[in-house]
Amino acid sequence: MLTIERELRQSKEFLMEHDHFLVVSHVQPDGDAVSSTLAVGWLLSCLGKKYVMVNEGPIPKRMGYLWQAEQIRDLSAEPLDRKFDHVICVDCADFKRVGKTKEFFAEGARLLNIDHHPTNDRYGAVNLVVPTAAATAEILFELILYMGLELNEPVATAIYTGLLTDTGGFRYSNTSPKVMAAASKLLEYGVDGPGLSELLLEQMTLPQLRLLTRALNGLQLSEDGKISWVAVSDDDLLATGAVHEDMEGIVNYPRNIQGVEVGLLFKVIDEHAVKVSMRSAGKVDVALVAQSFGGGGHVRAAGARIEGTLDSIVPRVLEQVRLQL
Ligand code: AMP
Ligand code: MN
Ligand code: MN
Repeated sequence: MLTIERELRQSKEFLMEHDHFLVVSHVQPDGDAVSSTLAVGWLLSCLGKKYVMVNEGPIPKRMGYLWQAEQIRDLSAEPLDRKFDHVICVDCADFKRVGKTKEFFAEGARLLNIDHHPTNDRYGAVNLVVPTAAATAEILFELILYMGLELNEPVATAIYTGLLTDTGGFRYSNTSPKVMAAASKLLEYGVDGPGLSELLLEQMTLPQLRLLTRALNGLQLSEDGKISWVAVSDDDLLATGAVHEDMEGIVNYPRNIQGVEVGLLFKVIDEHAVKVSMRSAGKVDVALVAQSFGGGGHVRAAGARIEGTLDSIVPRVLEQVRLQL
């Protein structure tokens, strides 16, 4: 039996056999993480199961239009009042990515790991890991169909959102024929494709634009023109009135420069840690670079959280990128 079929069957069994699930996605959730959380919630509600959706922090305001988005509990605002024996993790390449939500996993909790990162280390008791999928939302689309459920517009909108954001608007190399076929079906359920593109990919808030301008002012380029990077700190957020989610997308600018192979964004978390986002034009496997720092991701898009100060981390990351060039 094909791996994917076996994993779909095992996932179905996991969902059918248990009740009262915790559904979690990765820290600082992106469009795919939020959409996948909600798609699992939708699936569980169809099965008549009880579930709680949670993230370590708030979900991006921009995604408030999604069905039940307000139901995703924000642990930074309020803790949960119980622990869970059955947990579904979506879009998390490794266990660390669940962040503080793990405090609400009961001891010996059984995990269903649904993800599309090639660096996924299969930390679940049941794993539905499909590295060829463009987004975790694509896998959920497949799981929903496999389980014989009929989609409706709200869940179609969630899945479309995950596909749209993880493919950069159906432009990145993960935009497979399967993605386009799925998008086509989802549009038939009444998804507002152009409206979502406008909201998620085109529109910017003024603070977001100011943050981008400020960040690009400090853009750096290596001598050979192959690596370009920018850094953003809390001071930049304060000065521009921008919020954390406004940093998303900045990394594309250094990467988009002609001749640049790797674009980097260093986000200073505090005095002790930096989050680095990496984007590749194709030659360099940035997932390998990210993994060497304990992170992960995809060939062309990866990330890692690195302990240390910005000044010490930048040269270390540049060195690892150069080794791959
Ligand atoms: P980002 O730069 O945060 O947009 O992430 C790019 C890709 O790398 C996404 O697919 C992330 O899920 C993945 N990624 C980011 N940070 C990490 C990390 N610390 N560990 C594993 N994967 C990560
Ligand atoms: Mn993600
Ligand atoms: Mn994803």
